[in-house]
Formats: sequence, structure tokens, C-alpha cells
Amino acid sequence: MIQLLKDSIIVPEEAIYVDNSLLFGALSICEERARLSRILGLRARVQGVALDFGSAIHAGVAALGNNNNNIEAAHLEFVKTLKAQNTLLPIDIMDQEKHSVERGLNLISAYQERWKDDFYETLRSSDGKPFTEVRFRIHLFDWDSVPVILCGLIDRVAVSQISRRIINIETKTTGTSVSQHALQVRPNHQISIYIYAIQELLGLDVYETVWDAIYKSNRKPDPKAGFWGSKGIDIQKDFLRTSTSRSPRDLNECLFDVKEAAVKFLKLRDSSKERWTRTSNPMACHIYGGCAFQKLCATNLDPAVLKSDFVVQHWKPWEEDENV
Ligand code: SF4
Repeated sequence: MIQLLKDSIIVPEEAIYVDNSLLFGALSICEERARLSRILGLRARVQGVALDFGSAIHAGVAALGNNNNNIEAAHLEFVKTLKAQNTLLPIDIMDQEKHSVERGLNLISAYQERWKDDFYETLRSSDGKPFTEVRFRIHLFDWDSVPVILCGLIDRVAVSQISRRIINIETKTTGTSVSQHALQVRPNHQISIYIYAIQELLGLDVYETVWDAIYKSNRKPDPKAGFWGSKGIDIQKDFLRTSTSRSPRDLNECLFDVKEAAVKFLKLRDSSKERWTRTSNPMACHIYGGCAFQKLCATNLDPAVLKSDFVVQHWKPWEEDENV
């Protein structure tokens, strides 16, 4: 993993960290969700299998980018990531839980086959490190003299072998169809922030972002449906890449929104409110695999539920960096 931080910035211990998933995920979906996760630092004791599955697929895809599309390296990384998570993911694709180890291995193999003839080459640093899973930090502004740092993790920075232009590749696993998922490329602050980070920290002009979707189906293997069908995969319909670009004005507008959202978070943090406003949209508790705090909210923050189901583990991206 590569870390990007401007040399001139010294990040003090007390710096305040924000990221896309806080500002345009938790905070925009439900203020209370942002408080529980980022102020109280609550983490579910048992992470959902969908999250385990998604991060293991990401690790497998990153390994393809790091190892010239080598499938053994990708499968190994997928399994290693699941092991590190002590996952409860079932092994067998026939299990009623749609996320399984077998489906993950099949998806990575099919992804490799689907895109093996693309013309993206992973960018490498001068000492040969691949620009995959690139962690970045950007100084946004000071809040009461404390730096507010925008951070994130870019999946892959690549170079087009044809045009030699810089391409940002953002891979997503999705439970909705890839054609629906493709509609999310604009507006999309995550894409804009990552392009801004690559331009700001690497000094590279990003030509476009490839929004690289992988569909997690619950399709069962069908021996009559050809090689990939027998593995529960539709190799044409389960993968889609959509291109999108950003102008300098797009990036400025995004930065405006980022700062506004960060100020909103900081004002809430500094307020005397003991509980932040819960979403008024009940469906918001169930999107993206479901909010981890549903049981807590349903019991009005019952201390017994808090103790049995959650641990306090504050989000500290700088410590993750030190372990890189
Ligand atoms: S369960 Fe719903 S109301 Fe509670 S924190 Fe999550 S999104 Fe908000």
C-alpha cells in the first residue's frame, strides 16, 4: 500500500479526520449514524458477511492489478483477507447466504477473464510499488487551530497503454444490477475527491475514472448454462465499466461541498446535543447492506445491547498507515 501526504504538512496527533463515507455516507443518510460510528467509535462485534465479502473481493482485484493479472495471487489475497477478518462467510455457493467463499473465488476468476484484454497498466512509483489501495491525506482547513484532514483509499491508479493517460479505477461490488449502478457516476463525490487527491498529491492529470462494477448475484450454478453459468456467473451481465471525467470546475464545486459537510460535522460534534437526529426515512436503515446500529436504535441505545453487540474502536487512519 502506498501513502500520499504532502511533505510540507505535519499532521499532529489531535488532527481531525474526515472522509467521503462520513461526509456523504453516514452524515447525509442519518446524523445519528455519524455520531455512533465516528464520535462514539462504536463497531459491531460481528461484522456482516457482505462487508467481509466486499473487502476480500477488493483485495483480490487489487492483487490482479499488482501481479500482471495473476489469478493465483488474486485468489490467495481473497482468502487471506477473509481469514484476517475471522469471517463467518459460508464456503459453499449452494448455501442460502448469497455471499460465499466459492462465489467470491468464481467472481474473481470471471473478472480476470472479462477484463484480461483491457489496456490499463497499474502505475508504479519510482521504486516499483504499484499504485493500488493508495491511502491519501489532504489538509482541508483548521478548526480552532486543529487541522482537519480529508483522507481516503484509492483502489487503483493506472495508465492507458494506448494514450498513456492517467486513469483512476474505482471498483465496486454491488447487489443492484450493474446498469443501475452505472448511473451513480455523476454526481459522485467519491470519484471527484479521488481525482482531486491524485492531481493534488501526485501532480498527475487524471483523464478519466473507470467506475468498475461487479454484481454480486444470488444465481445458483447451472451446469446447462455453459462454463461460467455452471459457476453461478453471467460473464457479460455481471461486470460493467463506465467512464466519467471531471473538469477543474467540477473539482472546485466538490471541494466546496466537502468543506461544507465537514463544517456541519464539526458543528454537530461541538454542540451539546447528546443524540443527533435520526433519519426520517426508514429505508435509510436498510440500504448498503443495512446499518450496523439497527438493534441499538430499535432499543433506544439499551446499555445491555451496547455492551453485548458493540466494541469501542475509534477510527484512526493514521494508525492504519503506520501498519502499512
Ligand atoms: S439504524 Fe437507522 S436510525 Fe439508527 S443510526 Fe442507523 S440509519 Fe440511523
